[in-house]
Amino acid sequence: MGKKPKNLWLADPREVLRASEGFDLATVDRNSSPGWDGGKKEAKALMKSRAALLPELQERLFAEGRTGGKRSVLCIIQGLDTAGKGGIVRHVMGAVDPQGVALSSFGVPTEEEAKHHYLWRIRKALPPAGSIGVFDRSHYEDVLVVRVNDLVPEEKWSKRYDEINKFEEDLVKDGTTVLKFAMMVSHEEQGLRLMERLDRSDKHWKYNTGDLTTRAKWQEYQTAYQAVFEKTSTDHAPWYVLPADHKWFPRLAITEILTRTLSEMDLNWPKPRWSVETQRRKLAESMSTESLITSLEETHDNVESAMADSIEVRHEVAAIPGIDDAQAAEVAAARKEAWLEEIDAAVAQKETILRDRADLPKKLKKKLKKKAKG
Ligand code: ADP
Repeated sequence: MGKKPKNLWLADPREVLRASEGFDLATVDRNSSPGWDGGKKEAKALMKSRAALLPELQERLFAEGRTGGKRSVLCIIQGLDTAGKGGIVRHVMGAVDPQGVALSSFGVPTEEEAKHHYLWRIRKALPPAGSIGVFDRSHYEDVLVVRVNDLVPEEKWSKRYDEINKFEEDLVKDGTTVLKFAMMVSHEEQGLRLMERLDRSDKHWKYNTGDLTTRAKWQEYQTAYQAVFEKTSTDHAPWYVLPADHKWFPRLAITEILTRTLSEMDLNWPKPRWSVETQRRKLAESMSTESLITSLEETHDNVESAMADSIEVRHEVAAIPGIDDAQAAEVAAARKEAWLEEIDAAVAQKETILRDRADLPKKLKKKLKKKAKG
């Protein structure tokens, strides 16, 4: 078991970072780390511990999806060029099994996409049940770049905010938790990051001459983002506005919000619709006495290693806000007890089956009989 990580969130980041009524983007210090009482080093330490927790939560969601569950999570990531959207995919989603993550990037619509309604390509990319979807840009481009560059008349884009709200509300009703993250860099920091791309030949591929045209419209983009936050930060799908001049901050905040969201979903390993006992008996019938003895010997190790990996039994539980240390200890003890009962049941059944085997070595037969009596 590792050390309990230091949790330096002063408050739930979902409350601190949420764009609520009266939100004013102009007042957001892009070089700040709201709600976090530490720096980069502490952020890295907490992220490391979350990286041990996230994969199991994600696997539980995945298992739920495989057994008929309808729930999924969608992370929408928006931000101007150089805000660090790519880093999120690597640093946050890198921790989880790629099988359970559905990543989609939305660039300038293709000829085919342009023929359809703007939500057409978005609908096609929605995460399947049990997955975590990540949108690198999204339908919000249709009220950001489209609005700033007059790609469609105002009469058209202005109706999209309500349409988007309705679209997201339906998603939520269908079981998708929608998390929207806007990564906001300052004008100066964007300048520095673009210049670095020009200075380094290994970063030239990331540079786009159009980036300067977009940068020239900085204020128009800020206005368009402000409108997005005002009109589409709803209760069912709120926006989290992340100052992004420190690259580590949005990574930390998204990791934390995702971890808290998943842990509140009360994800449990699906219960089988068949009987473990019956299946174990049937499987044993097809196994030699020798391998059944091996399996009996392995029972403890197999289950105990699963128990050690279980998030309920590990220290991370205590670092999930809302669960205090005493509560965590109680959860851990109860879950451990359940695991131990499972070990006992498996061992007992295997021993019963083995006792009736004619080719069981005498010594073991004697031992098992003695155990059964006593
Ligand atoms: P990135 O710049 O994120 O690395 P791309 O090179 O694919 O990714 O560029 C994405 C570009 O596509 C951005 O300039 C973005 O504004 C633009 N884009 C995305 N969606 C739309 C849209 N619906 N209409 C017009 N342009 C869009």
